[in-house]
Amino acid sequence: MKKKRIVIALGGNALGNTLPEQMEAVKVTAKAIVDLLEDGCEVIVAHGNGPQVGMINNAMSALSREDVKQPVVPLSVCVAMSQAYIGYDLQNALREELFNRNIHDVPVTTMITQVRVDENDPAFLNPSKPIGQFMSLEQAMSLGEQYGYIVKEDAGRGYRRVVASPKPAEIIEIDAIRSLVNSGQLVIACGGGGIPVIKKGNHLKGASAVIDKDFASELLAEELDADFLIILTAVEKAAVNYGKPDQKWLADITIAEAERYIEEGHFAPGSMLPKVQAAVKFASSKEGRTALITLLEKASEGISGKTGTRISL
Ligand code: ADP
Ligand code: MG
Repeated sequence: MKKKRIVIALGGNALGNTLPEQMEAVKVTAKAIVDLLEDGCEVIVAHGNGPQVGMINNAMSALSREDVKQPVVPLSVCVAMSQAYIGYDLQNALREELFNRNIHDVPVTTMITQVRVDENDPAFLNPSKPIGQFMSLEQAMSLGEQYGYIVKEDAGRGYRRVVASPKPAEIIEIDAIRSLVNSGQLVIACGGGGIPVIKKGNHLKGASAVIDKDFASELLAEELDADFLIILTAVEKAAVNYGKPDQKWLADITIAEAERYIEEGHFAPGSMLPKVQAAVKFASSKEGRTALITLLEKASEGISGKTGTRISL
């Protein structure tokens, strides 16, 4: 029997917000991923980097303020750093979890991944992707004034810095990723949505942006001809009338229903909206493809249809 191929997109809660939190969180995450392998699935891991890229960017900005010889580090380089840092923690935790279960024949690899974006993407004119810590309105305003950051309110949870989030157009390292996956390796790719690059002839130029990992994972899942795209986040399901008295959690929904809920504005931009949009895109891309939005610890149950928000043709 052909193994189910699953691209999982790890959200912020699978990685935590700080160094010690991430080190703990990846242990739980590794367990959930190895459970899926033991269920007989082929798994490819993608992940977000909101808090991490914010932290790295702040650290790099502090460096160039302290030392005039240090130029400002571009956001694309910060994304690359976040891929390596998160990849390291995940590789480390996955290897340990595999060994604890006596699995010694699954090598774990992180692929530093560049993702091409269109330099005319309108997203460059309208920053929408929250990165870094949540702040009070006061903190947000003073940061905005001090550093020229654009800050926005994030789904009722506080204020955050926002950056441009263009759509992923092409995964540059896709052939390398495919060969690793086809040879049975457990691959971590498209971390933080991929390092955004713009094509200039043979040169790829880093772009000042953070691609949404939900869309990058969707493209990765299509390119690898996956059966499932599983977006693991902080809620078990997506809801309509989210946070209101008449809130209703969504289980199995059709593409048409999802599109109607998007139209009606039920999903917050920058958080749930890109997930539902990515899910719709994946499910519409080919017969037999299913997208699922759920909690990390519910991934296995979600695949067997017991929970989560599932969208299929
Ligand atoms: P991740 O790090 O997993 O990408 P996000 O914070 O970007 O997580 O998105 C998940 C969050 O989206 C949820 O925790 C919830 O607060 C928010 N959200 C916004 N709209 C909805 C909705 N309609 N249904 C469920 N969650 C929603
Ligand atoms: Mg998100």
